[in-house]
Amino acid sequence: MVLTELGARLSGALVKMSKSSKVDQDVVDACLKEICTALLQADVNVRLVKQLQTNVKMSLNLEDLQSGFNAQRILQKSVFQELTRLMDGGKPWVPKKGKQSVVMFVGLQGNGKTTTCTKYAYHYKRKGFKVAMVCADTFRAGAFDQLKQNATKARVPFFGSHTETDPVKIAEEGVERFRTEKVDIIIVDTSGRHKQESALFEEMRNISEVVQPNNVIYVMDGAMGQAAHDQALAFRDTVDVGSIIVTKMDGHAKGGGALSAVAATRSPVCFIGTGEHMDEFEPFEAESFVSRLLG
Ligand code: GDP
Repeated sequence: MVLTELGARLSGALVKMSKSSKVDQDVVDACLKEICTALLQADVNVRLVKQLQTNVKMSLNLEDLQSGFNAQRILQKSVFQELTRLMDGGKPWVPKKGKQSVVMFVGLQGNGKTTTCTKYAYHYKRKGFKVAMVCADTFRAGAFDQLKQNATKARVPFFGSHTETDPVKIAEEGVERFRTEKVDIIIVDTSGRHKQESALFEEMRNISEVVQPNNVIYVMDGAMGQAAHDQALAFRDTVDVGSIIVTKMDGHAKGGGALSAVAATRSPVCFIGTGEHMDEFEPFEAESFVSRLLG
């Protein structure tokens, strides 16, 4: 199914290949080039595309390709497998029933972090977990009100302050309170930051030290392009990123930046965001993600 879709969407060299009766290296190279161009347009990191091109080339045996149709299928399968492998950051961390967990959310401002905290809380609440949210964002005016509004909608307890200016203190107090209230999953939202803002990165490190998260989730916009690798790396160098959530996958973006984030953090994607509402949230599936990348 996925391979047929790929064949249908990519044009030019691939179609030509499927019709050719004899397949040589030039035909294969032209096809692979076309697939790589499509991946670059989908925001996949240049280095990863090059690596994929080399790996696929090495895995192919010209003698096996025989007819053009057969060659097209083998080539597509190989590209698909290679992309799925690149997208595989291991098994995502999941909260366990009966064990208290702290999950800290980090990411760039505007990428959908606060919205995603609520989606995550709502997802696990519906699975029967006792969840709560802590707003450790004192940097952005209105952050606490936004979290409060979202949490109220999702009927999830929350903690934050309009007057306290130290986010580390808020995080510590909030987590402490929910620990004693026997909450299963304590979600800590931090302020969005850019990798250039070293003071804010330091603050993120301090929050992580006091709340001792069981998992740190890096939230990134699916539309992030070639900058995705360096941004993700900056977060991973500061806190122990364990999972990734890719947001705004309901838009036009193909989400190729997520491959860079997986490579930079060596962490898996656990969910994707597919809208502004709290139930527009899906567990990540590598195969459908990859077929979208190629489509
Ligand atoms: P933060 O600064 O990272 O906390 O970002 P917010 O959670 O405030 O989100 C920024 C904007 O992105 C808001 O308008 C959200 O409604 C929107 N947003 C978040 N996730 C998604 C998503 O999956 N799809 C769409 N379409 N919009 C989203």
